Amino acid sequence: MDKEKNQLTFIPGFKPDINIKETSYIVFYDGKLMINKTQENAEYIFNDLPPYFLESSHKQQHLGSLHQRNCKIIGLRDIPEALDNFEFVSVRSLFGQITEAELLMAGRANQIITWATTHHFCGKCGTPTENKPDELAIICPNCSTTYYPTISPAIIVAIVKDGKILLGHSARFKGKFYSVLAGFLEIGETFEQCVAREVKEEAGVNIKNIKYFGSQPWPFPSSMMVGFTAEWDSGDIVLHDEELDDAGWFSPDDMPNTPGTYSIAGRLIEWFKQTHS
Ligand SMILES: [Zn+2]
Repeated sequence: MDKEKNQLTFIPGFKPDINIKETSYIVFYDGKLMINKTQENAEYIFNDLPPYFLESSHKQQHLGSLHQRNCKIIGLRDIPEALDNFEFVSVRSLFGQITEAELLMAGRANQIITWATTHHFCGKCGTPTENKPDELAIICPNCSTTYYPTISPAIIVAIVKDGKILLGHSARFKGKFYSVLAGFLEIGETFEQCVAREVKEEAGVNIKNIKYFGSQPWPFPSSMMVGFTAEWDSGDIVLHDEELDDAGWFSPDDMPNTPGTYSIAGRLIEWFKQTHS
């Protein structure tokens, strides 16, 4: 089983393969993923489900095929009683507990079911919507308005000045935990403009040489993190908005607690350490 899990044969898709008779299930309730408490490593794919799960679902979406079974996402309306063996957790809390492939698949499922459960009705005319048969989209049978999965792009940036990296402490973080700066793209902006604006807004400094670094889907529930590196240009750190309650320049040999390299934030910080030690 472990070997099979490590070689996740998952193929994304928007409708079931009619030649496959068997189905696996991934279950969500209110943005939380159902896992089997009795398993050591957060088992969240179920080959069988008691019938009441299907009966109390208010949305079902196809996810793809997994180990040659159709894989369906179940969005529960409420939590059935007698769930001794199961618990509901955020996908994000599984970072480091399951493989990257498993995490990506759970994240994709989270993103799809969140989108589907917020599009029961057409926003234009109020008619109940349907899955579009030929692509991953929801369509209104009355006015044909089509709704695609929502992806909200966000930038994340490592800024370097004289061999030190700019790290901030988010007002939302618990404990002494620092990370690179991040923020959502606004309408009409390029990514580079967004990077410069966010850094100015959050930390008050001007930057230059903004370069693409890499990206990471961030399905909590529907972001895409686009990473950049940049150099400080001018200005002292001034905390402007309420995002950060502390920020500073840190050298590789004097780093605070930072995210692990499972996230692009951690990979940006690792890049800084490797290139500035
Ligand atoms: Zn409509």
